[in-house]
Amino acid sequence: MSSFDLNKIVRPNVLAMEPYSCARDEFEGEAAVFLDANENSLGSLAGEGYNRYPDPRQTQLRIKVAKIKGVKPEQVFFGNGSDEPIDLLYRAFCRPTIDRAIINPPTYGMYKVQAAINETPVDEVLLTPNFQLQTDKILAAVKPETKLIFVCSPNNPSGNLMKRADIVRLIESFNGIVVVDEAYIDFAETESFTKLIDRYPNLVVLQTFSKAWGMAALRCGMAFAQKAVIDVLLKIKYPYNINILTQETVFKALDREAEKNAMVKEILANRAELIRRLNACKCVECTYPTNANFVLAKVTDAPAIYRYLVSRGIIVRSRHNVALCTNGLRITVGKAGEDDTLINALNEFGKTLQNS
Ligand SMILES: *Cc1c(COP(=O)(O)O)cnc(C)c1O
Repeated sequence: MSSFDLNKIVRPNVLAMEPYSCARDEFEGEAAVFLDANENSLGSLAGEGYNRYPDPRQTQLRIKVAKIKGVKPEQVFFGNGSDEPIDLLYRAFCRPTIDRAIINPPTYGMYKVQAAINETPVDEVLLTPNFQLQTDKILAAVKPETKLIFVCSPNNPSGNLMKRADIVRLIESFNGIVVVDEAYIDFAETESFTKLIDRYPNLVVLQTFSKAWGMAALRCGMAFAQKAVIDVLLKIKYPYNINILTQETVFKALDREAEKNAMVKEILANRAELIRRLNACKCVECTYPTNANFVLAKVTDAPAIYRYLVSRGIIVRSRHNVALCTNGLRITVGKAGEDDTLINALNEFGKTLQNS
């Protein structure tokens, strides 16, 4: 087991600081007259109730999400997308220019971007050619200053799940925090790592409402961890980081989980069909196994095919310049008609090659 000690890895300034105490923090309960926060007492031009600051702790939403996810409310953190907790994890645990993080390319770009903003040196340990973790190499890359290891599962851009035993080994062997980014977990038929939160004090699980839940525009991501870690994130976040429109809209949408699950089912069926048709395209060399709502395809000439698709008004994501992804295009599963348009264009591209 890792000998994880939260107080030893939180930045000393974060440990010592007093968080901002907002007006609504000091008062709990019912009241009729609120003259504590310098709001406009007359009302709001935007709509009923919008003159008031939103709940900084998102209490109602936490209770509801905790229930759905099978965790305790105090184990839930909301951010402005999951990008916010990624940033906050660096700010909480990594002293700029001193403490380090490990990432496993090819993976989600924000881990590196947020590290750069926070002046956190990053050590990169490539995934294997079939996009699995090299746990021995990761553990060998751990230095005394290493505070965070980011694992993305299902991984973006490859789409596959990491082996469960590998992630568990990292959690159990590493004295810092292992962040398991499960943005695409709804599309994977596997148990979420949120189930292991009570067991591991150094585990942080990220999820989001941006993908399966179809609420990318609302900017609401989640972090799950034991209370001690969540309290650190709460301490350093902007007091009102989730606006009232987002809190209310997500709260209501959570009643429609069955419809979310139905959409996931439809996307998975579309994905199977998309993969079948991609594999039949002349310009597609292979597709990689995916547990997400996208598929990484290895094509004959990614830059040319990308440009050709753009000329036809079809935008996919070229991962050609990313480690292990040469000639890779990452394609989101679309609606039936959209996938038809894509496949037709790919076949047309094949023909332009034959004719030249
Ligand atoms: C899309 C995505 C996210 C989600 O980001 P939000 O800020 O919540 O929209 C997080 N991690 C990965 C790997 C993603 O692909």
